[in-house]
Amino acid sequence: MARFKRILLKLSGESLMGNQGYGIDATRLGDYARQIKEIHEMGVQIGIVIGGGNIFRGLSGSQKGFDRVKGDQMGMCATVINSLALSSALGAIGMKSKVMTAIRMEPIGEFYNKWNAIEAMKAGYICIFSAGTGNPYFTTDTGSSLRGIEIEADVMLKGTRVDGVYTADPEKDPTATKFTEITYDEIYNKGLKVMDLTATTMCKENNLPIYVFNMDVVGNLKKVMEGEEIGTLVHN
Ligand code: UDP
Repeated sequence: MARFKRILLKLSGESLMGNQGYGIDATRLGDYARQIKEIHEMGVQIGIVIGGGNIFRGLSGSQKGFDRVKGDQMGMCATVINSLALSSALGAIGMKSKVMTAIRMEPIGEFYNKWNAIEAMKAGYICIFSAGTGNPYFTTDTGSSLRGIEIEADVMLKGTRVDGVYTADPEKDPTATKFTEITYDEIYNKGLKVMDLTATTMCKENNLPIYVFNMDVVGNLKKVMEGEEIGTLVHN
């Protein structure tokens, strides 16, 4: 039995580039697709939001002189590119998926609609929600919170390259220790960074728990669904 019935899986664009430094690493993409297939076979309904940081980030663009809003729109287009790549990789291993877009761009994807998404997930499709929230000044973390709440997911699974929330950045501080669970209030009070504040607040106010885990280790997604405590649960 899977621990959750319906999930919103957030994948980072940055992880998708693997060791390449830019773009999409076919091996990493294939690993993600196979991990998703494994949990789909457990009967889980799956919605996915994927970032765009492997291609373009609006904020970094504006530091180089790009107009912020156009830069953010470029970032949102980057998430569409990644979503199409993931959909293609899922198709290659026999999975049905639908790319939905927050900005109208048929025939690339269907314009997002909560009820169509739920219907599709119930029919066994994996729904990939692309273009974030459709608005500049937001991130795909906020897009994930929004879509997770809308599709009435039991949890947001935040796949990262670290295995949970730590007392400090484990890549910089070797004494940092990991939380098995933590509340949203503790996240604010300790000044920990799980997601940006807008995204975190949306989850807190709408009571959507987040499970942070390392998605880059093949097999971890299934372990989370089987109830193994390999990451950190953030809740109210
Ligand atoms: N973005 C945006 N609105 C959204 C979601 C994303 O403007 O609702 C833009 C923003 O410029 C961001 C980029 O898309 O920098 C890529 O998304 P993100 O940085 O969240 O990707 P990740 O860091 O997860 O790879």
